[in-house]
Amino acid sequence: MTAKILEGKAFAAQIKAEAGKQVEALKTQGVLPGLAVVIVGENPASKVYVRNKHKACETLGIYSEVIEMPADTTKEVLMAKIDALNVNKRIHGILVQLPLPQQIAAYESEILDRIDPRKDVDGFHPVNVGRLVTGQPALVPCTPAGCIRMLELAGIPMDGAHAVIIGRSNIVGKPMLHLLLKKNATVTLCHSHTKNLQEITRQADILVAAIGKPYFVTADMVKPGATVIDVGINRIAPKKLAGDVDFENVKEVAGAITPVPGGVGLLTIAMLMQNTVAAAKMQLKQEEYGKYES
Ligand code: NDP
Repeated sequence: MTAKILEGKAFAAQIKAEAGKQVEALKTQGVLPGLAVVIVGENPASKVYVRNKHKACETLGIYSEVIEMPADTTKEVLMAKIDALNVNKRIHGILVQLPLPQQIAAYESEILDRIDPRKDVDGFHPVNVGRLVTGQPALVPCTPAGCIRMLELAGIPMDGAHAVIIGRSNIVGKPMLHLLLKKNATVTLCHSHTKNLQEITRQADILVAAIGKPYFVTADMVKPGATVIDVGINRIAPKKLAGDVDFENVKEVAGAITPVPGGVGLLTIAMLMQNTVAAAKMQLKQEEYGKYES
């Protein structure tokens, strides 16, 4: 059996189309959703990501500002920029592109926590993390949110499924755990100290790999017919990317699988657009009712 290939392009287009409709609806209410992306320094990969985010905004009619700051920017100057964006009425979403340059990298949490939680379109602020964990509406990290939306659009049942996640990062693994729980999956979260990993992954109806090690998940770790989501992006040669899953062999066992490149990676920017729209809606409601609602 060869697995169904879950192509990110088609799902990303659907998610962007949904966001585009909401942008139009917001415009009729006098709101133009706005996203500010702050980039510090000259990291070439970060520059490409930021350019792609800006382009996606342009396509959907979202107002977008790219704020480029020099590599030697201090924590104080960056925080002051965030403070200004927090009170800027044109801006509904703020994203600080990571990684930060070395001299301020140690302050990453402090810097990200400075973003108004209502504008935190990356979903990294402790307020949004807390809201997600307690099952309240929240801005959720784009990559795991994209995976969930893809599973929904692909009609893959989550309710009652056993989902196994490998990787417990704050950006992917942990939010994925809570999003799957919200969908009534039974979730097992594995990491580098997990014993008998293969025994656990072979029980998964849905297997999510977010490890950062090329070809880590092999065919003998996968239950026949399972859905395999590969979040990994590993550069194995100057122009070659590999996922965390041994795609060629796993696709012969799995029921459905995402490729790398061309899979989950494409959903992240689409979900960023969705989060920007959600943030704009939340802020509009707050203005209408004068309190924090979402
Ligand atoms: P992290 O490095 O933050 O986390 C990796 C996780 O994998 C850790 O929890 C680690 O366990 C676990 N791990 C490492 N080795 C093993 C092992 N041998 N067995 C079991 N678990 C192991 O990575 P991220 O979550 O940030 O990213 C994971 C991958 O996803 C990367 O390739 C990254 O590039 C990609 N990514 C893609 C995105 C996109 O598509 N847009 C967005 C974000 C990430 P422990 O905690 O014990 O160390």
